[in-house]
Amino acid sequence: MKFNKRAYHLIRLLGGLKFAKFISRKHPKIIMYHRVSENGGVDSVSADSFRKQICIIKNHFNPLTFSQLMKASQEGKVPNNAVVVTIDDGYKDFSEYAWPILMQEDVAATLFITTGFVNRELWLWPDKIKYVLNHSNKRSLYVPFYGELEISENKDEVWHQLANFCLTLENEKKNTLIDWLFDELGVNKPTFPPKFYEALSWDQIRVMVSQGLDIGSHSHSHPILTKLDDTELDFEINKSKQLIFDNLGFEANSFCYPNGTKSDFNSYIKHCIVRGGYDYAIVAYPDLLPLKDPLEINRYPGTQSLSLFEKNVYGLSYIWSDFSRRVIKCIK
Ligand SMILES: [Zn+2]
Repeated sequence: MKFNKRAYHLIRLLGGLKFAKFISRKHPKIIMYHRVSENGGVDSVSADSFRKQICIIKNHFNPLTFSQLMKASQEGKVPNNAVVVTIDDGYKDFSEYAWPILMQEDVAATLFITTGFVNRELWLWPDKIKYVLNHSNKRSLYVPFYGELEISENKDEVWHQLANFCLTLENEKKNTLIDWLFDELGVNKPTFPPKFYEALSWDQIRVMVSQGLDIGSHSHSHPILTKLDDTELDFEINKSKQLIFDNLGFEANSFCYPNGTKSDFNSYIKHCIVRGGYDYAIVAYPDLLPLKDPLEINRYPGTQSLSLFEKNVYGLSYIWSDFSRRVIKCIK
């Protein structure tokens, strides 16, 4: 069940945000961002919208880092109106846009880094697909086991389709398909990510950690963990922890599942995460009880839209989900 825009504006007009905030005060909201850029885009929030959101968090909520929230949860002392800002992947633009805003507004945040990306060993596979599509002049392409794609039509839509198809493939097959795309579309594949897709450096992260940035692992190469064999899985979990320790000098105790949907991890992966020395793992979708399973901690998606952000952070989404759940239970 979803509630519509008009209902939202009416609720807002009648002071519903304050009411929702009170009702959901014990429901911590962890928000997941990926990129912040000057003007925003398909995969990023604009600096202006991000600043407005951070100011709302600063002025009306209790901002914590993910580590602080986990510590408070362990001690049974989660403060009312807790909000955690998390940013995934470790793109370079974090230091250009998001971190200066977080510093100026004095709002804590946690960055989940893909260590192979930061270590200059690779670039993120969804970006490779985006790059190859944007640099090809071909109009259409037949992708084996997938079908015909009109790539000149809407590149963002085609990117979504191809990325979703890749999520279903074994890791090696996915990499083979991406290499094939470069060959087939006649685009040279840069070894390192072009500027727009670059990662932060360890030096930059060290400086931000000294300024209060909290760090967690987001795997080594951002694969879909359910598509890996045991050796690959252990490598992703352990190598990432090792690199964080070697470069930043502390043990990361939280892990962020790449892609983070329900089908991107399972109980065996949770077991491997614990065996790898992590205490917590975080997903990419919300739940009414976000802290009930330390290896499946829930988040709200970050968004460019201020009204959607308000719905999530003030707890309207929480109240509505709870209400929907009760109605569905009654009907059953
Ligand atoms: Zn990610």
